[in-house]
This record gives sequence, C-alpha cells and structure tokens, in this order.
Amino acid sequence: MCNDYSTYSNENSRVLVDKTKSGKERPWRSKKLSSINYYELLHVLEFKKAERVKECGTVLEFKADEDTGHLKLFKTWFCKSRLCSLCNWRRAMKHSSQTKKIIEEVVKQKPKARWLFLTLTVKNVYDGEELDKSLRAIAQGFNRLVKYKKVAQNLIGFMRATEVTVNKIDNSYNQHLHVLICVEPSYFNSTKNYITQKQWTALWRRAMKLDYDPVVDVRAIKPKNKRKTDIQSAIDETAKYPVKDTDYMTDDKERNLQIVKDLEEGLYRKRLLSYGGLLKEIHKQLNLDDVEDGDLIHTDDEEDEASENAYSIVALWNWERRNYFIKE
Ligand SMILES: [Zn+2]
Repeated sequence: MCNDYSTYSNENSRVLVDKTKSGKERPWRSKKLSSINYYELLHVLEFKKAERVKECGTVLEFKADEDTGHLKLFKTWFCKSRLCSLCNWRRAMKHSSQTKKIIEEVVKQKPKARWLFLTLTVKNVYDGEELDKSLRAIAQGFNRLVKYKKVAQNLIGFMRATEVTVNKIDNSYNQHLHVLICVEPSYFNSTKNYITQKQWTALWRRAMKLDYDPVVDVRAIKPKNKRKTDIQSAIDETAKYPVKDTDYMTDDKERNLQIVKDLEEGLYRKRLLSYGGLLKEIHKQLNLDDVEDGDLIHTDDEEDEASENAYSIVALWNWERRNYFIKE
C-alpha cells in the first residue's frame, strides 16, 4: 500500500509545508519520523497493532485557502495509539484548546474561583506489570483524595493528566499526576479551609495507603495580572504527552524495546486525562468530545471558518525520501 503512494511523487514534487497563522511550521515530518520509530519497535516486539501505527497519517488531505494558501487538515487516518508521536501531538493541541475553553467558561460562571496546580507522585516502579498496578492505584487514590472533606469542601472541579517518565540511570518509571484544581475563594480564607503542602502530602499518603511520604508539589496560581499566562502554563503541563517519545528513542535499542514493552503494558486501557466537578459538567455542556479517543483531525488550535474557495491538497508520506510530498 505504501509503495503505491510513493510512485506518485517524482523528483520534482514539492515537500509539504504547513504553517500556522503565526508562521510556525507544523512538525508533520518530525512527528511522523518518531511515529515510525515507535512502529519499528512495536514490529520487533510483534505487537499486532504495529501495522496500524505504520499507516498513521500516511495520506494527509488539507483544504487550502485560495487567498492565503493557509492549510487546514481535512482528512487523514490516525492510529490513536498511546505512544504514537503524531497522535500525541494532535491530542496535546486538542487537549490544550478544550481546556482553555472550559476554563474560560468556569471563570465566567465562577469569577472569584481560584486555581491550584498540584503534582502527585508515588515511588518509581521497575517493569510494565508494576506500572500497570501503580497507575490503577493512582487513579483510585485520586478518587479517594477528592472525596476527603478537607478537599471536597472547597472544591469546584479539576482536570487531571497522568504522566510517566523514564529514569535513565536506574531504568525505573515514575508515574505521577498533574492536576489543575479549581477551588472556592474561601480556600484561602482560614486554616480550616486552606491545605498546606504538608497536609496535601498527608492526604495523598492516606488516599494511596502508602507507608512513606510521597512527593507532592502544590502551587497557587496568582489571581491577578499574570493569571492568563499562569493558567496557560498549568494547562501546558497537563497537555504534555503522557510519555516523552525521547524516553524510548535512546541509542540503546534493547533498552528502547524494553521501555516500549513496559509502557504498552502499563498504559493499556488507562484513562490518562479526566475532568471532575464543574469542569466535567462544562466539558459536557460545551459538547466537547473525548481527547483520548476522539477526532484528532479538528484540534481547533486555530479556529477559522472553512473558506468558500478552499481547494484540496493531498500530501503523501514517501518512505524512501522520508518526508511528505504534495501529490501533483
Ligand atoms: Zn498515530
């Protein structure tokens, strides 16, 4: 199938260039190359889905604006694998744009609400099976945490994202949650309402039933002046990829295979992004679809109405020349 496509592009065909309105080039090629790297690891590991990942985004159809030449992705097929760089890039854009819309609406409905950014961690683990167990435990622990009276009494809503990082020194995995929490302004009013970093640590320890003090980081997002940029950086933290692809693209091939195998096992059927409380309600009200399993074509990073005079442009991945070329 792939070879048929490559016959379309001859030596003179143009390389795909897709730029945002601010002039930044969209990283189609580098994301596809990372995705191919992931495919190759899956192939060696004999994962059935390897072939699906190989086909991810091989044919891209855009609508180009007749006046500006600006491209908008119109049609393609994404594999939706957890570790696929192309899919994660689309998901991160979509997640960021959805969360922005949700936060704007929360601010409208609850103008006095305050925001916290919480990072909850547990001890590192060493293989896929442990990772799987730990990620399940974290999801359950988080559900317990937000039900504790001390937390629940001022809680308006939250957005949580799971991230796994690979420790290259001892080959362990660190799984943690980034949580954007929206609280009533009363949270800051008294010691009865306020939760110190030490208390957050104790609550997380209790929720996770741990026999050690976990690392917990909490910061309040400033209510004035810098609010937008502060919230944006918190959104960016939660919109990061669940796993950095550079974590399994080291020089050590054997190690990369082991990491992908462990991550596939650990992340299997996990929900890595979720909303709660008012943020969940607004997600529903705004009719936003599921970032993890939804449409990755319309990420709405740039909202523009489809131009009346748009024409189609098709770009094909060329396996020999390792780039996207416009089909003439
Ligand atoms: Zn993909």
